[in-house]
Amino acid sequence: MTEPSAARRGQLAENLAVVRERIERACRVSGRDSSEVTLIVVTKFFPAAEVVALAGLGVTDVGENRHQEAAEKFAVVRAELGEAAPRLHFIGQLQGNKAVAIAGLADVVHTVDRSKVIPPLARGARPGVPLGVLVQVDLDTDPQAHGLRGGARPEQIAHLADSVAAQPALTLRGVMAVAPLGQPARRAFGRLAGLADQVRHTHPEADWLSAGMSGDLEAAIDAGATHLRVGSAILGSRPPLR
Ligand SMILES: *Cc1c(COP(=O)(O)O)cnc(C)c1O
Repeated sequence: MTEPSAARRGQLAENLAVVRERIERACRVSGRDSSEVTLIVVTKFFPAAEVVALAGLGVTDVGENRHQEAAEKFAVVRAELGEAAPRLHFIGQLQGNKAVAIAGLADVVHTVDRSKVIPPLARGARPGVPLGVLVQVDLDTDPQAHGLRGGARPEQIAHLADSVAAQPALTLRGVMAVAPLGQPARRAFGRLAGLADQVRHTHPEADWLSAGMSGDLEAAIDAGATHLRVGSAILGSRPPLR
């Protein structure tokens, strides 16, 4: 593991401070307590050494979207930090053939969007450590875009939540979404908050709302987000898709 340069470490610390200040300010504006909001730093495409540096800056939760990359990176991070390693949130599309392995690797999976992946997640969860699960909602109102970026249709959410909650190896945490492209994030997150309320009605313990990224975290906080997934505002822009 090659440690990041002093300059890079300084940049990470500065970016993190700016994001934390944005969160504080948005919470003040929305009349919320910032202790209700968890920052998940999305480290996809960036090396294990930067995850270790971020942990040193107080980051407790990290998000990754590809199984292979997350497995390699977290083997290093966990060897380096042991108990102090950040929690790993899986935020990428769930491929059926990877679900067992992802369940064994991650602490929380944010992207359950079809029933088929639920039994393999339950099989892969570590014995005695229930895997946290969120149901991903597709908020796009444009039918042409449905299914493009993952997520279940709003009318399927209740059934998926029930199916997750029925698995003893899984703990239903709540719902997650990405704001649709080209539509106002505030309106989309408002719909998500309504769905989260419905899920909590049946499953009161499922009180997480995972929403908000670098560009729209203020709108997400205003809608009641409890978990933000922020990448580029902290790590810088990612290399083009491989
Ligand atoms: C990459 C990613 C993020 C972080 O996005 P930024 O705009 O870089 O903050 C959040 N959520 C998901 C699902 C992602 O894939």
